Order: sequence, then C-alpha cells, then structure tokens
Amino acid sequence: MSYLDLSIKDIHQALLDKKTTPLELTKEALLRAHADTCNSFEYICENEALEFAKTLNDVEKDNLLYGIPYLLKDNFSTKDIPSCASSNILNGYIPIFDATVVKKLKDKKAILIGKTTMDELAMGGSGTTGHKGITYNPYDISKTRLCGGSSCGSAAAVAQAVTPFALGSDTGDSVRKPASFNSLVGFKPTWGRISRFGLFPFAPSLDHVAYFTRSVEDAAIVLDAISGRDKSDSTCFDMDSTNSYENLNKYNLNGCKIVILNEIMDSFKDEQLKNKLNNFIELLKSRGAIINYVDFNKSLLEAIFPTYFVISCAEATSNNANLDGIKFGDRKDGNTYQEVMINTRTAGFSELIKRRFVIGSFVLMSENREELFIRAQKARRLIVNRLNEIMKDNDILLTPAAPSISPKIKESSDKLSDTYLIADNHLALENFSGMPSITIPFAFKDDMPFGINLSSKILQEDLLLSISSKFEELIGLKGVSVRNYKEYLKEEK
Ligand code: GLN
Repeated sequence: MSYLDLSIKDIHQALLDKKTTPLELTKEALLRAHADTCNSFEYICENEALEFAKTLNDVEKDNLLYGIPYLLKDNFSTKDIPSCASSNILNGYIPIFDATVVKKLKDKKAILIGKTTMDELAMGGSGTTGHKGITYNPYDISKTRLCGGSSCGSAAAVAQAVTPFALGSDTGDSVRKPASFNSLVGFKPTWGRISRFGLFPFAPSLDHVAYFTRSVEDAAIVLDAISGRDKSDSTCFDMDSTNSYENLNKYNLNGCKIVILNEIMDSFKDEQLKNKLNNFIELLKSRGAIINYVDFNKSLLEAIFPTYFVISCAEATSNNANLDGIKFGDRKDGNTYQEVMINTRTAGFSELIKRRFVIGSFVLMSENREELFIRAQKARRLIVNRLNEIMKDNDILLTPAAPSISPKIKESSDKLSDTYLIADNHLALENFSGMPSITIPFAFKDDMPFGINLSSKILQEDLLLSISSKFEELIGLKGVSVRNYKEYLKEEK
C-alpha cells in the first residue's frame, strides 16, 4: 500500500499525522511515473518536483491539496517546463508563463509530477494520435484496447494511482469518455467556471478545463482549488471559487428529478450493461429519485456529430494558425515566409490534424460559410434550446458515458449507425451548452471498466457533485484503480 492509493482527504490526514511527507509522496509518485507501462508521459518533472517538495515542511491544516502530487495534460502552459501538446510542431517549446490553473495549484502547494501524453493538440478521442504513439489502457494487459482520449496520459496515470488527480481538457468528451474506459471520475464543470488562460486552445467555444480523480469528493476538492474569476481570461465567470467540498452532502436522491433520454437509451446496444443500468435506475427509484423518460428529438441528436465537427474544425483552424514556424513552432527552412510556414506545418502536423484543418478552412471559405459554418451554429442553438427545455423540469441528466467498454484499437465503427452518431457522441451536448458534466465508474464487463454520465444545469456543480456522490455510494466503486479493482470485482460476485 502507498498513500498515493488513498483519497486526497486521507492523504492529507496522513500528512497531518506525520505518517508521510510531501517529499516522500513525491518520490513515490516519481517511482510510479517511471514504472508506467502505458506511455502516459511527455515529461516527468523529476528535479522540479523534488526541489519543490523539499520546501514543503509545514502542512497547512485547512489546505487539502498541500503536498499532494498531481499531473497535467501537456496542453497546459508550464513555465520553464516543456509543453508540446503531443505534437511535433511544438517539440522543444518551453513556455515563459504558467497557466492560471497551474498557478493556483502551485499556490495551494500541490506538486506537479509530470506532463501527460494526449491525442495531438487535443484532437481525437482514441489516445493513439500523439507524436509518442499509442497510450495504452492500463486495465488491458493485452494492450489491444483503447485508453480513450484526448486526455489519455492523464487517465492512464490516475488509473495507475501515480497521483490522485490529473488535469485534462474536454472539448467534446476528452475527459469524460476516457474516464469511462479507465474507471475514473472525469469532471468538466460549467464553461467559464475555470480559467482557461494558458490552456492551448482547440475550439474555445467548446473547450473546458476538466480533470480525473478516483472519487467525487476529490473532484469537489479540486474544483474548489482551481475555479473562480481570473483577470487574464475574459470568458471566465466573475465569481468566487466554489465551495463544493463543503456542500457535498447538501442534496440527496429523495425527490431528485432525473431525466433519461429515450433515443440515447435506444442507441445503447450493449444488453449486459443496459440491463445493469436499468436495474440501477430501479434502485434510484427506491431511494426516492423521480425518473422521467423523455424524447429529445432524434434528428437533433443525429446532428450532434456533424455540428461538433464543423464548429470544432473551424475554430481549431483559426486558433492554430499561429503554429507557423514564425510565431510558434519548430521552424523548417524556406526561401520565403510562405515557404517557411508550409514546410513547418507540413512536417509538424500529423495526417489527422491536417485533415481537420482542411475541413476547417473549407467550412470557413466565404462561399461555404453560410451553408456550413453558420448552419452548424444554428444547429447548435436548436440542440441547446431543446436540452434547456428538458432541463427546466429536471435536475440531472443521466446517460451511459460510452456505447460500451473501451473498443479494440483496430476496431472500426459504422459512422452512420445510431451507436456511433448518438451513443458515442452525445457527451458533446454538454460542450455545446456549457453544462457541468461528470462521468463516474459504474461497472466492469470482461474485466474492463464502463462509466455513466450525469449532468446538471449550468453553475449547479454543488447539486451535480452531491447527487454523483450518492450514486457513487450505491455503485460501490469509489477509489477504484488498476491496483485494487480485483478486490472490488470479488465483492461484486
Ligand atoms: N473526440 C473529440 C474530437 O476528436 C473530442 C476531443 C476533445 O474533447 N478534446 O474532437
């Protein structure tokens, strides 16, 4: 056993009781990071972490994150620490400032252990497209199943209990989907709740800072530490940070109105997991929850993926235009500045990124704008209007977080099926609307994890986290990791 296997509150208690120290925790986290077999790391902050940990000698009683090791997806800017977003174009880039979340965590004396691998520039959902190759799913010893992405390294590392939490980003589902595949809590608060200053932009109207933990309680603790106004990010709410940890028991299941969308359940074809979910819904009813089944509108749900794709590619193209070898990026020679840009971008981006930029440029061309880009924005509005209408009468939206357990790396899906269009893509609903949304561990099938997702109206994180923690108690997978999950499975049998 290591203290790293425990919850943040329990590690904090161990620090207060002098059973361990920040330096010991750091050394252990570094050992675990070096022992990683999943390709989770872009950079391990060996010296930086040890130096910082040595200065932490006075555990602060009211600061739960004091001396707690953590990890960051490699698309957060870290002063003097390489940050390349798993893209060749940013090889060797060392930022001169910290992202606001990094600064806040430093002020709390949390210890950065490393930068984690990701799908290149946060585009992708598989964990296979970063410049260091595939990031593996720690639950799958055969290394044939996806870890999920784009925040793959953060997911794989928290599942291996390298640290109790790791930051990622979620533009379409990039924390909440891998959370499902790695038996983790994956949380994306309301758009604007957490400053994005220093997060490399992918599609800013959809981008969220999000993160992984192994319990809902830990998710509340991290939210309180990194939320709140920021002068450097005008899209961040002018509000104090949250008090979600204190409010974790404020709401309960009795009388809680939970909505289930019929089309999403119909598109969820895994009978074994579906039965389990239906049984769980009965259990929720017996605890006083009110379950409402509602039709969303199938055409609108089928429009999520194309709408997401058009908007995110358009925004990505424009936001990544500065990676040109002149302002940013690993410059390749040329005789003119145009040649420099072409050579830099040709060498620096993978096929997936180039494809997305071609699509983004295409939908933004003046002759296509109205028909493609503006139309996608209108579709987004219709989808969000329908969602808001449904949420007016409900507290929580409950869905499966993915169509099933993590798919095989080589498996291809029928892109026109309901399973793909709806079950695999509906998590973007909360990126379109900005609603807070959390995936929590729900079950195992064939020894692989599967999660469910809960969302609430915007700025209702306290309600969402309270209800999620009640779910977590009923499910019984709180604190699960690859190191201990066999114990949980035994109990289940
Ligand atoms: N899988 C989605 C995509 O490829 C989501 C990515 C994300 O959330 N960063 O764009």
